[in-house]
This record gives sequence, structure tokens and C-alpha cells, in this order.
Amino acid sequence: MKTILIQTKKELIDYKDSLPKDSIIGLVPTMGALHNGHKSLIECSRKKDTQTIVSIFVNPTQFGENEDFSKYPRDLNKDFKLCEENGVAVVFAPNPTEMYPKDDEISLRPPKNMGYTHEGFIREGHFDGVLRIVLKLLHLSTPHHAYFGEKDAQQLLIIKRLIQDTFLKTKIIPCPTQRDIDGLALSSRNIYLSKEERLEALKIPTALKKIAEAVQKGELKTSILIELAKIELENLNVEYLDICDHDLNPIAYIQKNSSIALIAAKVGKTRLLDNLWL
Ligand code: AMP
Repeated sequence: MKTILIQTKKELIDYKDSLPKDSIIGLVPTMGALHNGHKSLIECSRKKDTQTIVSIFVNPTQFGENEDFSKYPRDLNKDFKLCEENGVAVVFAPNPTEMYPKDDEISLRPPKNMGYTHEGFIREGHFDGVLRIVLKLLHLSTPHHAYFGEKDAQQLLIIKRLIQDTFLKTKIIPCPTQRDIDGLALSSRNIYLSKEERLEALKIPTALKKIAEAVQKGELKTSILIELAKIELENLNVEYLDICDHDLNPIAYIQKNSSIALIAAKVGKTRLLDNLWL
């Protein structure tokens, strides 16, 4: 199958209209700078869907004023090649005016309890922007399945709520976090890290591993687990280290299969996120 590059809404709708009725469409929304984490989402879709659409769009509305929107890594040719090699049917790479033709448009807000803590607290308006773009992408591609990484845990949980609250039919498929051999979660922003910073960054997966091991041994008290992780994160600029339920509420004890440990830390100028689904 030859991968098609589509850059307008109309072409995407025409493409969809041209598909056989029994097609199963999978959407993988990304901001590009594709790595093996994105590739794993594509592979997941390739197993389930007859057509995989990968969107590549650095979404301006989810970046704060002092964030890295303009310097976010972009390489459409390289990304397109990765998609081609992995059997993607369509790369949808619109420009910002295609997705946001009007300055003043309907806004969306995440639920109050889960949208304004953690990432939502530190990056004001971030999830408003994520919801806006994801809803637009879902409407344009009307996929049967949409794939999101567990790496961005809060985003995944809020998008699940978007589907529930707006009665969309798309099924959200969570995909496990992919890591480099040294344990660092893959991220498009890892390229910003110097060699020394990368070593520092490894404290994050190590801290999560400590939590996992302790839980495995039967420790369920979150205050104790957090203390264990803190030791590993010494001297790192930690923005949050928390253990929550799936509504992002703090919890005193781990409840198996419905708890997450979340870490955000800055290494040099680079913000890194990681988490552990417990
Ligand atoms: P991004 O391009 O950073 O917006 O990410 C696009 C999608 O890829 C999101 O659903 C992310 O959660 C997912 N993703 C990013 N990094 C990873 C990773 N290391 N493992 C699995 N999924 C990831």
C-alpha cells in the first residue's frame, strides 16, 4: 500500500468517502518527530485496522506562551518515511490555518477534577488545546479506533472522558510506554538533552522502578512509595511526584489496576514526563 500525504480537510474527507464500506479506520494523532513510541501506536493500529491514518500536527493551542512551540522538532520527510515503512495509509499533515481557520472559536474545557492538576496546573490551558485538536481530528477521520500512549497518562484519561462525555463512537486504545535501552521513556523532546542531562534524566525511570518493586513486595501505602521515589530523584528539579487514581485524585493506598504514579521533572531546560500504571 502506498502512503498518501494529505494536507487539507477536504482531501481527507474525500479519501474517507472513497474507502470500501467495510474499512476499519485507525487514527494515530501525533505532533511528529516520530520515534519508536509513535511506531508502536502505528503497529497496534496496523493489527486492528484496515487503514491507519497518522496525523502530524504541532498543535499551537496546546503550547503555553513560554513553551517550545516554535522550536519543537519538525521533519515531515523523515516522519513520512517512517509511516511508509510501517504500512500507514494516510499521513494527515495540515497547516495551522487549516485546523484553526478562525481566531475566535468554540472552546473546550477538561473536567474540573482532572484537567487542572499536574500537567493541567503547570501548563495552563494545555488540555483545552489538546481537546480542541483531538475533537477536530476525530470528526475529520471518524476512526473506529484512536491510539494514545500511556506515556501521557493524564492526556489519555482526559481523552477517554472526551469520548464518554460527547458520545463519540471511537474506541480509545491505550498503548504501553516504549523506552530506550537505558530505560528513559521515548519522547520527541529527548533530543534536547545533553549526555550529562540524559544521565540525570534516568533518575526518573529508576524512581518509578523503585515504586513498582515495592508494590510488587506488597507495599501499598502511597506516602511510603513516594518517599522511596524521592530518594532516587534527589537533586532533580521535580515538578510533581504523585500517586493518584484515574480521576487524578490523590490516594492513600494503591488500588490495583486503577492507580498511577506520575512524575514530571525538568532536566536542564527540558521537561520530561513519565509514569507507572499500577
Ligand atoms: P506526541 O507526538 O508527543 O504528541 O505523541 C503522540 C502520541 O504518541 C501520544 O498518544 C503519546 O502518548 C504517544 N507517545 C509518545 N511517546 C510515547 C512512548 N514513549 N511510548 C508510547 N507512546 C508514546
